[in-house]
Amino acid sequence: MVVNLLGFDLDGLTAFCQGLGEKRFRAVQLCRWIHQKGESDFEQMSDLAKSLRTKLAGQACVRALPLVTEQVSSDGTIKWLFDVGDGNAVETVFIPEADRGTLCVSSQAGCAVGCRFCSTGHQGFSRNLGTAEIVAQLWFAEHRLRRHLKLPLGERAVDNVVMMGMGEPLQNYAALIPALRTMLDDHAYGLSRRRVTVSTSGVVPMIDRLREDCPVALAVSLHAPNNVLRDELVPMNRKYPLADLMAACARYLDAAPRDFITFEYCMLDGVNDSPEQASELVRLVRGQGPESSVVVPCKLNLIPFNPFPASGLQRSPEHRVQAFARVLLDAGIVTTVRKTRGGDIDAACGQLAGEVLDRTDAATRMTRAPIRIQPLPAETPR
Ligand code: SAH
Ligand code: SF4
Repeated sequence: MVVNLLGFDLDGLTAFCQGLGEKRFRAVQLCRWIHQKGESDFEQMSDLAKSLRTKLAGQACVRALPLVTEQVSSDGTIKWLFDVGDGNAVETVFIPEADRGTLCVSSQAGCAVGCRFCSTGHQGFSRNLGTAEIVAQLWFAEHRLRRHLKLPLGERAVDNVVMMGMGEPLQNYAALIPALRTMLDDHAYGLSRRRVTVSTSGVVPMIDRLREDCPVALAVSLHAPNNVLRDELVPMNRKYPLADLMAACARYLDAAPRDFITFEYCMLDGVNDSPEQASELVRLVRGQGPESSVVVPCKLNLIPFNPFPASGLQRSPEHRVQAFARVLLDAGIVTTVRKTRGGDIDAACGQLAGEVLDRTDAATRMTRAPIRIQPLPAETPR
């Protein structure tokens, strides 16, 4: 069986090389070729012994996901749709800014959590992505962008990764951890822990495990200030209610690379966007409400809802978002409102893509300077 080496973190690569009778430093060399140089052809890995290159060619490969579409927004946002087999596709979004680039990565085809406002949730769950399929999104984006932007050697295109694409990353924990380690490893992408963010609907036991195993920045999708409403919007809440979630967030901060948790809050017209609910939210994070007595240092990220027909929900009007933000700001909570990005490339997609785009477009709502990228060339990208 041919193994895709994108599925290994450095420890995994070391074990694989040892299985071939090779020393650890060979794994380091391989790791650099693959992730730092974007090389997929073992023959080009000039400092590996010929005998090792031959062994690798027989047993391993470095394989990207088949690309279905690439779309470039007038504001520079880029969306890739990848085929993951059996009629499933996942999406990856690159959001350029003046001083950095953020990549929004998917962890599952579909999602089992079933949040009311999320089209991925409405699609249902197809399957977990493997580590190779998660890492392939970054590998492809990084090296494609480097080539197209003609970046000098050593300069990277992606300096932030957010696990905010399709899926609940903490329900695909076994595949997630080696993927995160590869993102962080200095021999691979070398991203700092604060530049890799896991976003979760609140899988409490896995928040604790992440804190032990690989404490990167944490974003928690809150969306409601009390259990009654959150039970409706984010079904995960029925299993892990706010008291448990807030306590897990507070524990996470002991190990977190930042001294706050980012709470995401999708603004739904007439559902969760009143000034009273904003005040309730302030009490919740201060540990002064009926739901939880734990103080959670946090930032609030308000996301205008991206509507889709089956949801039966509407986006909050701008003035309501502003009024909500004002209550939080007046209470001293750092609050940002995401701006829409890449809106012009949503409509052109097919139905599956449309559903995927509806969902991940939430992660493209930030203000950034446009960059130019050439159109997709005819040859298959490496
Ligand atoms: N499953 C994880 C990560 C992926 S979702 C989670 O739920 O956190 C990433 C973010 O997209 C979530 O915070 C969610 O609020 C947001 N989102 C989902 N559907 C949306 C929509 N239709 N409009 C705006 N944001 C949405
Ligand atoms: Fe799943 Fe996140 Fe969508 Fe909820 S918001 S259904 S957890 S992808």
